[in-house]
Amino acid sequence: MSTQWQHAYEEAIRCIRCGYCQPTCPTYVMTGMEHSVARGRNFLARCVFENEIELTKDFKNPIFECLLCGACNQNCAPVVKTQDIMMAARENYIQKMGQPHLQRFVFRELLPNPKRMTRLMKLASFGKRSGLSGLVQALRVFGWFGKNIANMEELLSSFPKRFFRERANELENQSQKTKLKIGYFVGCGINYAFPDVGVATVNLLRKNNYQVDVLENVCCGLPAAGYGDAAAAKMLAQKNIETIEQSGCDIVISECGSCSSFLTDYKHLLGDDEAWGKRAEKVSTQIKDINVFLTEFMADKKFKSAEPMTVTYHDPCHLGHYMKITKQPRELIRQIDGIEFQELPEANWCCGGAGTYNIAHNEMSMKILQRKMENLKQTEANMLVTSCPGCIVQLSYGVRKFNVPVKVRHIVELLNDSI
Ligand code: SF4
Ligand code: SF4
Repeated sequence: MSTQWQHAYEEAIRCIRCGYCQPTCPTYVMTGMEHSVARGRNFLARCVFENEIELTKDFKNPIFECLLCGACNQNCAPVVKTQDIMMAARENYIQKMGQPHLQRFVFRELLPNPKRMTRLMKLASFGKRSGLSGLVQALRVFGWFGKNIANMEELLSSFPKRFFRERANELENQSQKTKLKIGYFVGCGINYAFPDVGVATVNLLRKNNYQVDVLENVCCGLPAAGYGDAAAAKMLAQKNIETIEQSGCDIVISECGSCSSFLTDYKHLLGDDEAWGKRAEKVSTQIKDINVFLTEFMADKKFKSAEPMTVTYHDPCHLGHYMKITKQPRELIRQIDGIEFQELPEANWCCGGAGTYNIAHNEMSMKILQRKMENLKQTEANMLVTSCPGCIVQLSYGVRKFNVPVKVRHIVELLNDSI
């Protein structure tokens, strides 16, 4: 039994079946079904672990329809890590039932190879801009989504012509040398979908006299782990550990909540690996989410908005539920002169994006998104700010679909515009 598998089993048997997770679980609130909540999911997983029930295709929906949002931990007295149990259960599922070939190809051949990945994304970008549904054609490599792949075209309103890495060398103040050397971890979502956020991150730090080196990292590995391909996630993690070690950076900054959380978790992912365990632990301690870095190092910084506005904030699950980083982004927004901060009801509820959940489980995702949009309307904010590119895709789609006249932006864009 692998350490992860053992850990998942030990978590599953800690569930006391109290059901207090029910009101916090977005999928349970939508369906009212026991197999849609942590208690039911954990019980099913435990039965499989203990060979009480056979693992069949019926097991797929309960474990893959979990958002891995971690919200069930809030009311859970023993703090059962349902998300870890679900990832281990997915690993078990694909080992027994097989993994789609294209999915395996993406996680093991494309994501570790930025040149190949960039070529595919260029094609997708051209396809989207050409308006010939070329995006869907270009993204046939994601064929395991079946007909759901059409959801991808709808979710993305635009695709940049130039990715972040193509623009990185043109940014100002390249060669500043400061005491603290920062490595900037470029998440896939930032590089391919939101390069302006990457530009804002580097500019914000460099304008405040920090030396920032853009790391030649690959995907953090979270998408592979989320689909149960732990081997691919570990391989990507090892590549990133080598890159971070060789960079000589003191700390590594990420402005993607999912990357920040998964990079910090390398110590668990590779914890039982003799060759990598210690290295993973060291790298995990070097990771700082941008919100934490800015509140620690720029607490006295004065920001000023160009125009007065009301801003609200959505907590990305990996930042809020996993890393408990909730105060810092709010403090930063409040630090901006000219901005009124308005709390979003149920701000810590998942938006339904959850990586590619909005493609694979579109119907459930849209129901969860609708609830988020109803809450957003109540704030009467002009701008919805968050700190994860996946959430930006989903929330931007939400304001278009449900006609909510609110701009969606990443927190670093707002701060960079307010220097
Ligand atoms: S709240 Fe925790 S212990 Fe209670 S049923 Fe849910 S997962 Fe189990
Ligand atoms: S991780 Fe989220 S979706 Fe999954 S059981 Fe917990 S609260 Fe529900």
